[in-house]
Amino acid sequence: MDRLSAHDRYVACLLAGAAGDALGGVVEFMTLAQIHRAFGPGGITQYSMDDDRIGRITDDTQMTLYTAAAVLDAEAAAPGSFERMEPNVGRELSSAYLHWLNSQGIATSVTLLGGRALRLRAIDALNHERAPGTTCLNALAARIGLEADPIQNDRKGCGGVMRVAPIGLLAAGLADAPRVAFVWGQRAAAITHGHPTGYLAAGATAVIIAELASGRSLHEAVATALTLLRSTPGHEETTAALEQALAAAMDGAPSARVLESLGAGWVAEEALAMAVYCALVSSTLEAGIVLAANHSGDSDSTAAVAGQFLGLLYGLESVPSRWLDALECRSTITDLALQLAEVVAAR
Ligand SMILES: [Mg+2]
Repeated sequence: MDRLSAHDRYVACLLAGAAGDALGGVVEFMTLAQIHRAFGPGGITQYSMDDDRIGRITDDTQMTLYTAAAVLDAEAAAPGSFERMEPNVGRELSSAYLHWLNSQGIATSVTLLGGRALRLRAIDALNHERAPGTTCLNALAARIGLEADPIQNDRKGCGGVMRVAPIGLLAAGLADAPRVAFVWGQRAAAITHGHPTGYLAAGATAVIIAELASGRSLHEAVATALTLLRSTPGHEETTAALEQALAAAMDGAPSARVLESLGAGWVAEEALAMAVYCALVSSTLEAGIVLAANHSGDSDSTAAVAGQFLGLLYGLESVPSRWLDALECRSTITDLALQLAEVVAAR
């Protein structure tokens, strides 16, 4: 992949993910029947029917940006290799997510790091409460330091899956990119989600992002994730969900019916499987994100992750301008994506 096209795809990954998040966020708590009553048989395809057409990003994109800030700061402290970053990444991620917790109006007694995550706190549009996940809030509020071990709980919501794309983006280009993405995707999720599926599905998501960012097809990327999963204890639910997504993609035309057969997306493995299905079966980025937002479950998370996959596959030109033009935090998202692309291009 040439340098310019890599930058374009990185920006597309995070912007299309945010657009999916904003689109799905409007209908997150609606059934498919309610969505059809409100928006017609085609479902939701634009952020709002009102005059105010702002695409409001939710906690999914907020936390993704804090992940990007954390890994960029860790990389800046030890440039050139993820191995050298390793002592810092966990602390940077913990600190960044606690900055996010502060942005939700919840104080922490932990002393936080500065850098990019602190600078995100100064951006007004990022300081909104947009139906944040309770596991993320509770797990972070309970933290007493940056060095603490992975959280001990049994939560497997999709709060890890929806925020780890920047880890895959930063890992791309390393000799051992899939393994690095897998390990750090898990570590990032395990800060809040202690059930193996909660963090393994996040590791798999980061692997798929890293593989797509390296120019592989989605089928190849999923195959790499499955290989890594199968050698890891506790992988069964995540593996089964991904295999079900691959089978569903062979099951006739893309449809909400088949999508909903994979679940509702509130839990990690279902959100990942639904995003994979939507990205596999759709012939355009727009169709894939619309499919991923229009179902009875966690529409913003499934559409965000599908958008991240599709952005890497199709590039920025394929993201509808009506979504880009009205998207909150567009310049911040673009800037962080470009910084990630710069790191990878300089390797
Ligand atoms: Mg959300």
